[in-house]
Amino acid sequence: KRIKVGVVFGGKSGEHEVSLQSAKSMIEALDPHQYTIVPIGISKAGNWHIGKNAMKTLEEEQKQAKKVSSSSPVRYINQQVGGLTPIAEQPSPDPVPSNLVNDVDVIIPVIHGTSGEDGSIQGLLELLDVAYVGAGILASAVGLDKIVMKQLFGAAGLPQVSYIGTTRKVWKSSPNETMEQIERKIGYPCFVKPANLGSSVGISKAKNRAELERAMELAAQYDRKIIIEEGLDVREIEVSVLGNDDPIVSVAGEILPSNEFYDYKAKYVGGTSTLVIPAELTDEQRQQIETYAIQAFQTIDCSGLARIDFFIEKSSGRVLLNEINTMPGFTRYSMYPKLWEASGMAYSKLLDTLIQLAIERQAEKR
Ligand code: ATP
Ligand code: MG
Ligand code: MG
Ligand code: MG
Repeated sequence: KRIKVGVVFGGKSGEHEVSLQSAKSMIEALDPHQYTIVPIGISKAGNWHIGKNAMKTLEEEQKQAKKVSSSSPVRYINQQVGGLTPIAEQPSPDPVPSNLVNDVDVIIPVIHGTSGEDGSIQGLLELLDVAYVGAGILASAVGLDKIVMKQLFGAAGLPQVSYIGTTRKVWKSSPNETMEQIERKIGYPCFVKPANLGSSVGISKAKNRAELERAMELAAQYDRKIIIEEGLDVREIEVSVLGNDDPIVSVAGEILPSNEFYDYKAKYVGGTSTLVIPAELTDEQRQQIETYAIQAFQTIDCSGLARIDFFIEKSSGRVLLNEINTMPGFTRYSMYPKLWEASGMAYSKLLDTLIQLAIERQAEKR
């Protein structure tokens, strides 16, 4: 009997477009003899479209949105990062359809960022009592919140850059004190990020006070919470983790960003950043990365998959954990599947494994 797989894509976050690309690759790769695929698209406004026209409907909606979005400066910034409409300006969505999981055996929620990678869709799927690929509510929520994530990694003794977390409210009410505190504790250059996002959306590197102010303003447009990190001169190494209770780690890959850092453009626009697989590492670095990757995965109680991003400080060779991504980019050209390919697991085999892991995890709950 064929397994019915619901692929959920799109979503309200700034990573909507990336999600569509990931989902397209997955749908193409799922073996039609083994699976019946049910596409489930969530538009930027939060409306659900189920069935074979879901992808087309979302793409159409997007073209329309792009036509409207050229006026205000906020919209302009968002357009550069993929046409995101600020949530405040969106009309309220239709309710989630009640027939969502009729006859579906397993769901792949391939949504990156807020509303998909943050535990909210996982919560819905838990309530519906359906098997789904990837992390549960807790790991998703913690993995997406860079402040809570770093607090837990720190408590687990994992090495990372220094950081401070703040909120939009604190920033708006006392910008000068906030900047002074950042300068005292972190200094320049620093990286300013919305706490809950991905794909480098809303992230900037600041080298002085004027840039810091701009960076804080930008991050505050995307999230209530903001994290400021010490900016180091680093190599960027990533590994893929796969499994539930006994996760395994892929070979490591290195990113050579085409811009000053691995920003949204370097990731997706033109695709000029280079991936080096396997990364050139000392045995010690490789071992540390493997150990830290498993520890990071288990610290947040992750399951299914995660891509773990590391830094190697150029001056010292020191390995630092940057972050965990519980629903990493999943196009054929994305780091997560490429690292598995280099480790001997082809793209469609990887999907089979993830679906099996989802079913096993669901069975364990009973
Ligand atoms: P994704 O989820 O797509 O991997 P993200 O939006 O969660 O990305 P980060 O991985 O935290 O963002 O940061 C994006 C990029 O910014 C990094 O890959 C790196 O190029 C640069 N960067 C972030 N933090 C630092 C730092 N503290 N020091 C040096 N570079 C940094
Ligand atoms: Mg991330
Ligand atoms: Mg991410
Ligand atoms: Mg990253």
